[in-house]
Amino acid sequence: MTQTYDTVVVGGGIIAAAAGQHLAAAGYSTLLVERDDYGSGTSSKTSRLQHCGLGYLSAASGSISAFLARPRSAFECFSLMRRSMRGRAEFVRTSPDRVKPVTFVVPLTRENAIPRWKARLAFRLMTASDGGSVPLDLRILSAGEARMYPALQGMAGLESIRGAMTFTEYQYQWPERIVVDTVMKARAIGMEALNHTAVTALVREGDLWRVTLAAAEGPRDVLARAVVNCAGVWVDEITAIAGAPHIRKNTGEKGTNIVLRLPESLRGIGFETVTAAGAPFYLIPWGELHYVGPWDSASDGRPEGFRATEAEIAAILKQLGRLFPGFELRREDVLYSWAGVRPRSLARDGNGSTPAVQEHDLTDEGLPNVFTFTGGLLMTHRDAGRRLTRAVSRRLKPSGPPRPLDTASLSVMDGVTQASVAHAVLSEQACTLSDILRRRLSVGWESDLGLRHAETAAQFAAPHLGWTPEQTAAQVTAFIEETATEFGLRAPPC
Ligand SMILES: Cc1cc2nc3c(=O)[nH]c(=O)nc-3n(C[C@H](O)[C@H](O)[C@H](O)COP(=O)(O)OP(=O)(O)OC[C@H]3O[C@@H](n4cnc5c(N)ncnc54)[C@H](O)[C@@H]3O)c2cc1C
Repeated sequence: MTQTYDTVVVGGGIIAAAAGQHLAAAGYSTLLVERDDYGSGTSSKTSRLQHCGLGYLSAASGSISAFLARPRSAFECFSLMRRSMRGRAEFVRTSPDRVKPVTFVVPLTRENAIPRWKARLAFRLMTASDGGSVPLDLRILSAGEARMYPALQGMAGLESIRGAMTFTEYQYQWPERIVVDTVMKARAIGMEALNHTAVTALVREGDLWRVTLAAAEGPRDVLARAVVNCAGVWVDEITAIAGAPHIRKNTGEKGTNIVLRLPESLRGIGFETVTAAGAPFYLIPWGELHYVGPWDSASDGRPEGFRATEAEIAAILKQLGRLFPGFELRREDVLYSWAGVRPRSLARDGNGSTPAVQEHDLTDEGLPNVFTFTGGLLMTHRDAGRRLTRAVSRRLKPSGPPRPLDTASLSVMDGVTQASVAHAVLSEQACTLSDILRRRLSVGWESDLGLRHAETAAQFAAPHLGWTPEQTAAQVTAFIEETATEFGLRAPPC
C-alpha cells in the first residue's frame, strides 16, 4: 500500500531541515526528501555568517526622504533586522558549539562615513531587538585610533580615515553539519528522511498529492496531504512539476568567495565594507586563512553557479587590491574558492529580487496545500521552520500529538576512525565519501579540504556501504574531482 504522510518536505537544505523538524514537533507525520545529501546545496556554499542585521538597517535608514518615499520597504528591512537579531540570540544560546564570535571592523571612510550618533542608534535598535542577550560589543574608534588599528594597516586611504566601528558577529563554523544535526534531531522525533532521492513528479489525486521519488534503487510513490517545497533556488522547478509552471517565486543570485592567507595583522579579525556598487564585501577569518567575497552575479541554479569562474576570482582580487593595495595579492595566492546560488524572492512584477524572506501558500494559486519558501537564509532558518509550520496549520490539523523540539547540536566524533565513519554511515545516512568527509566529519573543511583522509575513510566505509574495491576507488576519485571542480583545489601529485 502506498504510504501517506501529512507533509512531504522537498529539499534537504537548511530551510527544509528546519521546516521538517518544526512540522514533526507539531505532530505532522513528515517525510523529507533530498536529491543529493543534506546540506549539500546552497547551504554549504555561503559566507557562513549569522549576521546581526546591520546591513538591513543601513538599507532602511539611507535618508529621511528615502524612508518617506518607500516606507514599506524600510519597515521590511527593520523587520528583517529584528528577525536576524532574534535568530542570532536563539542560535547562539542553543547551539553555541556551532558558532564562533568574530570581531569585525568597519572602516569609516569619506565614501562610507556614517555619523557616530547614527551608528549608536542603529546598534541600540539592534540590541533592543533581542533584549541584548547576545552582546554586539560595539566600539567606535576615533580617526586617530582607526589609523593605529592593526587590522586596518595597509588599507588604502588610511591617512584620511574618519574612524571605524568594531563589533561582534557570529560565524557558523560548519553550516552543513547544522543541517545534518537538524535532520537527525527531527528523525529522532519521528520524521522520516531520504537523501540521494529526488522528487520527480507531483500529481493531485483526490485530496492528496501523489509524490514520485527517484533513487538509485528505482522509483516509488508516496502520498501527501500537503507538500512543503523548500528546494531553495529550485523551488519553481518543483511548482512546475506540480503542474503550475506559471507560478514563479524565486530568482537566483550567484555569490563567490575565495580563500587566501592574509597578513598577520588581520589574523582572526573580520573586515566589512561595501563595494562601489553598494554590495557588502567581507574578509572573514577561516582558521589561519580568510575567505573573501562574496562577488555576486545572476544565476539560475545550474551547476556552473556552484563553481567560481576565473573572472569572478579576478574581480574579488581586484576589489581586495583596491582596499589593501599593499598586500599585492595575485591569482596564485588563491588557495581555493567556492560559489553558491542564493535563492531570492522574485519581485512582484517579476523583475529582479526583493530582500523578502517568506512562505507562500499556493492553494489560492491553484496548488491546494502546496507551500513554498523563498529568500531563506541560514541565520533565520528556525523562524522559517516556524512560519511554514504555521502556514500548514492554517490548512491542516496534524495527525499525531506534538513532540519535543530539541535544537541543541549533536556531538561529532573526532577524526577519521573506524568508529566515526561507521557512525556517519549507519546512524547518519552518509552514502558517499563526500557525505562522510564534508557533512558528517569536519575534516572535509581542513586546509586540504579532506583530501588526505579520502583513501582511509573510503576503506572504513566500504564494508558498511557494500562497496567493491573498484567502487571504493571510484569514490576516492569522485571526491578528488569534486574538490577540484567545486573548490578549484587540486590534489598534490602522489
Ligand atoms: C555566496 C553566498 C553567501 C551567503 N552568505 C550567507 C550568510 O553569510 N548568512 C546567511 O544566513 N545566509 C547566507 N547565504 C544565503 C543562504 O546560504 C541560503 O539562502 C540558504 O542556504 C538557502 O537554504 P535552502 O535550504 O533554501 O537552499 P539549499 O541549501 O540549496 O537547499 C535546497 C535543496 O533542495 C534540493 N532539491 C532541489 N530539487 C530537488 C528535488 N527535485 N528533489 C529533492 N531535493 C531537491 C537541493 O539538492 C538542495 O539541497 C549566502 C548564500 C550565498 C550563495
